Amino acid sequence: MTGTVQGLATEALGPTITIGEILVEIMATTVGDGFLEPQSLMGPYPSGAPAIFIDQVSRVGGSAGIVASVGDDDFGRLNIERLARDGVDVSAISVIDKPTGSAFVRYRQDGGRNFVFNIAHSAAGDIRMTDAARALIDRAGHVHVMGSAFAIPGVSDMLSTAVASVKARGGSVSLDPNIRAELLADASGQALLANILAATDLLLPSGEELFVISGHSDEAFATAHLLKSGVSEIVLKRGRDGATFFSPDAHRIDATGFHVKEIDPTGAGDIFGATYLTCRRMGMAPDRALVLANAAGARSVTRQGPMEGVSTLSDLDTFLASVTTGVPA
Ligand code: ATP
Ligand code: MG
Repeated sequence: MTGTVQGLATEALGPTITIGEILVEIMATTVGDGFLEPQSLMGPYPSGAPAIFIDQVSRVGGSAGIVASVGDDDFGRLNIERLARDGVDVSAISVIDKPTGSAFVRYRQDGGRNFVFNIAHSAAGDIRMTDAARALIDRAGHVHVMGSAFAIPGVSDMLSTAVASVKARGGSVSLDPNIRAELLADASGQALLANILAATDLLLPSGEELFVISGHSDEAFATAHLLKSGVSEIVLKRGRDGATFFSPDAHRIDATGFHVKEIDPTGAGDIFGATYLTCRRMGMAPDRALVLANAAGARSVTRQGPMEGVSTLSDLDTFLASVTTGVPA
């Protein structure tokens, strides 16, 4: 299960799947300090990093499925309807006797954010290995591991099962290491990360995550170390500054960020990662996949709502034709 598989499995091997939280997001319409007084809110919007990711896999042309749980309520229904409408296999989403998970968010004057979460005690915190989940895992060609999902009890075991199953069939694995820092504070969290990293073909870190998981504070060192230990490609996300591709032969490609008006940055990393991975699984070279992912990330921040900024390949072509700055063609 170590890095013996070079490269990413093509679409023909089976769908890209992920396991993790489905949420609704409800946003304050004003900037300020939290939720201590009545105020106007906007939402519910479909959300949850794994859900945003898998929706974009499907929109951009990949086959896609998710293992998750929602409640028997409108917040659950709006998520299932959106994912199904966008072509995601929703057969492994359980509808259970707990409310759908939610996140209320308000931006502060200083750019920071205040949240009120209902995740741990919601359906999102209660994801189960059902027969439908097993069936989806059994026919998957690629597993995307969303680090945020490690916070849900039992999900790391389910992800490990899915990774082993997919690897045994010659499939591939990607990792977005957006793991809560507390989870890496103890030995079991570190062992879990090491196991998933050993099976990872494509790594999609942003910001400090590269340094945290590699143990090196220098970008070149950190990427070289990870590529030597079996990861076959790394794409580092740099927010408005774009992204960089790294491969083991010391090959590197930089993509400058496109100039857009940022309305809502939530979900950009998930939409970027889904676009890059799916373009690669569809057979595109890294440089083309990077251009399209950079465009998808930029386009996503121009829309209010974390999943509202997903893009088809045709949306990305239109976007690329309309911008004059960014990556070299
Ligand atoms: P999140 O975890 O909030 O979803 P992230 O930190 O994983 O995001 P970012 O680096 O913020 O990922 O964004 C992913 C990609 O989206 C960037 O690499 C870039 O291509 C694009 N992007 C994000 N923000 C902007 C922006 N303001 N302008 C242009 N492109 C952007
Ligand atoms: Mg991220």
